[in-house]
Amino acid sequence: MSAQQSGVSAAEIATAYADATPALGAGHALEARLIGAGAYARRLAAARDAAEAAGLDALLIGFGADMRYLTGYAAPALERLTMLVVPVRGEPSLIVPRLEAGMAGDAPAMRGGHVARVAWGETDDPFALVATAVRAGARAGSAPISVAVSDRLWATFVLRIDAALAAGGAAAPTRLASSVLSAIRMVKAPEEAALLRAAGRAVDSVVLAITSGKLLGRSESDVAREVRERLTGAGHEVASFAIVASGPNSASPHHEAGPRIIEAGDAIVLDIGGQFGGYGSDTTRTIWVTGRGGAVPPSADFVRRYELVKRANAAATAAAKPGVSCEAVDAAAREVIVAGGEGERFFHRTGHGIGLEEHEDPYIVAGNRTKLEPGHAFSIEPGIYVEGTNGARIEDIVICTADGVELLNATSRDLYVVEG
Ligand code: ZN
Ligand code: ZN
Ligand code: ZN
Repeated sequence: MSAQQSGVSAAEIATAYADATPALGAGHALEARLIGAGAYARRLAAARDAAEAAGLDALLIGFGADMRYLTGYAAPALERLTMLVVPVRGEPSLIVPRLEAGMAGDAPAMRGGHVARVAWGETDDPFALVATAVRAGARAGSAPISVAVSDRLWATFVLRIDAALAAGGAAAPTRLASSVLSAIRMVKAPEEAALLRAAGRAVDSVVLAITSGKLLGRSESDVAREVRERLTGAGHEVASFAIVASGPNSASPHHEAGPRIIEAGDAIVLDIGGQFGGYGSDTTRTIWVTGRGGAVPPSADFVRRYELVKRANAAATAAAKPGVSCEAVDAAAREVIVAGGEGERFFHRTGHGIGLEEHEDPYIVAGNRTKLEPGHAFSIEPGIYVEGTNGARIEDIVICTADGVELLNATSRDLYVVEG
């Protein structure tokens, strides 16, 4: 079975999605309705098959997005080892501290009996337990033992796992789990697409509220606080980021909201997002604050640059479809801005994949020859930044379909010109 197949019917997804209006707790509720134990069984099987095809004996997954993807367990990022062992033979197991075993047991893959729990006490050696599980599930006569670890596994865990495996005989150099999981996680199953779609709808409601509310005279931090409150109120369980970059700060793509007071004549780059049922939202709109009576309208130069960004966003969106490479989508956006003479001021990639992580494969960047497939979800976010003056960016999340992309953000891509 492939990871793309869903245990939930299209009709069930449509109903669940329609019911999930942006509201407090909506993300978790939709996740619980759409992703059951069966989905995790399919994902674990796909991961095991891919690991075997790659000549590995096991995948070793620490806390983070890979573990959540494979089990539904959002393990805490703590110093006691929690590790999912997916061997190519036999049952997956979760090595988990005893004091968190109950919590882990509530996660769908464990509750569904697809992953066995191995609880370890304070004086046990969890690394020895990992090594034992790896050897028990290795390919027949496999020597040296070959494992892949989740990409963000802490060095303190990697080194002790390596030592535990080496203690039992030859072990090959440790590889990265993304070498087998990335291709699987990139292609979103229908229930994942539904969560991304709902996340987009929730974040759009926040954009509408902020762009139609008061901005003039407020600090960036105060607007960012409102953004975070609204993200949570619209169903995100985590308000991950709230970039409110005003005036000269709008020329800094990853500006952190600070004490600056918003004034007439400011451009504001509003780039916000969170986690909705585990899945990311991420959208950017650009605002111009004229002041009362339209006192300081956008300059002709700014409007020219904004229109380039808008055309670049549209060109990349139109270019994206199955079989087109990620770098070709980047080029479609970049060509517009280069032709407009602003190429030097568009100094970041056009986009990034999105799912259980805010930034994940596929990256929409020169040099990435990965071809788009239906189910790939990613951002399209060209921008132009004039240091010391201002900047503009327009960002949408899209999902690749059979013949193009579906836009997950629906707010206007025009410049938001507001009095205050
Ligand atoms: Zn970014
Ligand atoms: Zn963003
Ligand atoms: Zn982004």
